[in-house]
Amino acid sequence: MTRKKLIAGNWKMNGSLEANGALVRALLAGLPAAGAAADAAVCVPAPYLAQVQQLAKGTALAIGAQDVSAQASGAFTGEVSAAMLRDFGARYAIVGHSERRQYHGETDAQVADKAKAALAAGITPIVCVGETLAEREAGQTEAVVKRQLAAVIHVNGHCISEIVVAYEPVWAIGTGKTATPEQAQQVHAVLRAQLHAASTHDDRVRILYGGSMNAANAATLLAQPDIDGGLIGGASLKAADFLQIIAAASAAAA
Ligand code: PEP
Repeated sequence: MTRKKLIAGNWKMNGSLEANGALVRALLAGLPAAGAAADAAVCVPAPYLAQVQQLAKGTALAIGAQDVSAQASGAFTGEVSAAMLRDFGARYAIVGHSERRQYHGETDAQVADKAKAALAAGITPIVCVGETLAEREAGQTEAVVKRQLAAVIHVNGHCISEIVVAYEPVWAIGTGKTATPEQAQQVHAVLRAQLHAASTHDDRVRILYGGSMNAANAATLLAQPDIDGGLIGGASLKAADFLQIIAAASAAAA
């Protein structure tokens, strides 16, 4: 089965009403030329979901959140539930981004519960997995990403066919160091095999690469057989760069 590639932007904690307006308008203007053979989404800070929902209404640009609470409602100050995100049109929610694992101590089990909460609200979780530099150097890459994904599979059972996975080597995020296409493909193949063993519908699951993907390196990464798209941080804040990555994904599908 050929999977439609997905290019998702992760704006992280960047943006303002003014900057978002300019960025989204430029993206919408360029999307038709970038090609419709790939799906495109932007995962925005929660306060801007309403703004981006309005701007992108009725267009091919989907919107997503960068995190979601594992809880449905109640006394969880500061948390945002999946139903709330859904109210503002979120189709995706990133869960388990390495910055959340690192700065907020999110565990594999919490990430799995967040994925479950998203799925229950009809939101596709983009489940991030990835090893640190120390783990790679210790030869633990496969073991780490398999452990992280196994937790999500364990909690979500057959619903696993509805998730998106993002392989994001921590050492490549925001550093300008990209995994080589071969390094990325090797890990993607491991994750694909793990999904295949867990689900009869694993062929629906897209596995994105993330970590300093940009307009210059996107095409070779996206040409790898098990790379089904990208999760893009820094380059998603520049309309021209993000559009070039979407165009590369569209071309890879052609
Ligand atoms: C990310 O934050 O998910 C990411 C991949 O960032 P960058 O593209 O900037 O490395």
